[in-house]
Amino acid sequence: MERNNQTVKPGTVYLVGAGPGDPGLITLRGKYLLERAEVLVYDYLASPKLLKHVPASATKIYAGKKGGTKHTHTQEEINQMLVDWALAGKMVVRLKGGDPFIFGRGGEELEELAKAGVPFEVVPGVTSATAAATYAGIPITHRAHTASVSFITGHEEPGKENSNLDWSKLATGAGTLVIYMGIKNLPMIVDNLINNGRDPQTPVAVVRWASTPEQQSVVATLETIVHKVEEAAIKPPALVIVGEVVSLRDRLDWFEKRPLFGKRIIVTRTREQASELVAALEGFGAECLEYSTIQVEPLDSYDILDEELERLNEYHWLLFSSINAVQYFFNRLYARGMDARNLKGPQVAAVGRATADFLLRYGIVADLIPTVYTAEGLAQSLLDFGVEGRNILIPRAVKAREFLPETLRGAGAQVTVVPVYRNVPPPTGKEELRAELGSGQVDMISFTSSSTVTNFLAMIDAPNQEELLRLLKGVKIAAIGPVTAKTITDNGLTVDIIPTEFTIPSMVAAMVAYYEAGGH
Ligand code: SAH
Repeated sequence: MERNNQTVKPGTVYLVGAGPGDPGLITLRGKYLLERAEVLVYDYLASPKLLKHVPASATKIYAGKKGGTKHTHTQEEINQMLVDWALAGKMVVRLKGGDPFIFGRGGEELEELAKAGVPFEVVPGVTSATAAATYAGIPITHRAHTASVSFITGHEEPGKENSNLDWSKLATGAGTLVIYMGIKNLPMIVDNLINNGRDPQTPVAVVRWASTPEQQSVVATLETIVHKVEEAAIKPPALVIVGEVVSLRDRLDWFEKRPLFGKRIIVTRTREQASELVAALEGFGAECLEYSTIQVEPLDSYDILDEELERLNEYHWLLFSSINAVQYFFNRLYARGMDARNLKGPQVAAVGRATADFLLRYGIVADLIPTVYTAEGLAQSLLDFGVEGRNILIPRAVKAREFLPETLRGAGAQVTVVPVYRNVPPPTGKEELRAELGSGQVDMISFTSSSTVTNFLAMIDAPNQEELLRLLKGVKIAAIGPVTAKTITDNGLTVDIIPTEFTIPSMVAAMVAYYEAGGH
């Protein structure tokens, strides 16, 4: 049953904490509200990845507010916007980085709403102080080290009159100090702490973009941190953590130690299938840049398939060489008012485990999965079985390799190939992809089929081989299996990684092993 606070009211502004950066750190309540937003007003610290929860029909407004640069909207404009949308009867989500009430000016925005008589609710978020500490391996409190923590803003101008900060009390008032917005004023902050009695040898950590794949940390002492931060050229947004607990990082650092941390990997798959690969790579700490080089589309006409569906009983074998083939085959089967019971005639073969697992969703247990998960492997397994005189149906893409049907025909089988979907290049992404590659920040590209290779190259659209090699300089290439690898080498590129088993988990394991063995 839904909890009773799972409701939304029109004409209300929901002030929602987005969490510190990792889009997984938003609350369930926050996500629920995003999914129902009619208007979204969001800041630069709120992860753009959260936008995927918001309905496509919602009005999305970027409110900017990047420290130190020109604000996209002034605070007054933002306040007015919230009031206007709410009075127009919209369900408005105001999404803010971290927690809205911790240095987030959430209080000020709500005061304006209250003044205008606009109803509001607030959803807390994981504030960046706890996130930075957690993801840097620094327990913010610890029985052996400290029993108190202070959250402080470092944004106040040095020497500001009527300052809210009393450094003489703050310097030694709490065991752990976490300073938000403290990078620009770091020298002043450090001086204030030391001059007011904090030991210059106190360990300090500065953590930038905490909880994201771009997280960067430096550790020093109060005496040396300014120099270290300059050396590492750390820019906002970053937090400064001061206190003995920082020394625990030596043993407890976990996030930045994951094997793919800091690696930027291009994932080329169809939009529908990217999630398994992306989830696995992100689980090891990689940053994935998803490019859908192929888009899968249904056909305009299913006349050919429809005829075959009427005579499924005449087939001895039904072969599936991809998840897409399974999906589109069953979509049509169901659309015709049929279901798995109509498949009791033929035996069913899947090219690999992922395809077989996918078949299970439709109530079919594959009768045959080859030991090698390729068309070649599948052909060999069927030949071992004996296919002479057998009727075989292969639903597949409009354009596909002829290897499987030809080999089976060569062994005396009657093979019928029927198109059930088609691959088309996606409409956009080329400029972005080129810019990404040109930046020199991409570590690896993963290819999960020959067509992703061909489409990727079509998408880059390099005028010549020299230009292609220049764009891919220093970028490692992973292929899911030998067929994909061959397409890569046929295009004059080098394959760095091929797994022993041709599945996504094995490919990911091979990528991890590559870096753990010291690959760059
Ligand atoms: N309401 C926010 C804080 C906004 S003030 C919260 O609860 O986290 C902006 C400051 O927050 C930045 O200057 C930086 O000091 C800190 N900050 C926000 N997100 C951060 C992140 N992912 N990593 C490090 N610091 C972050």
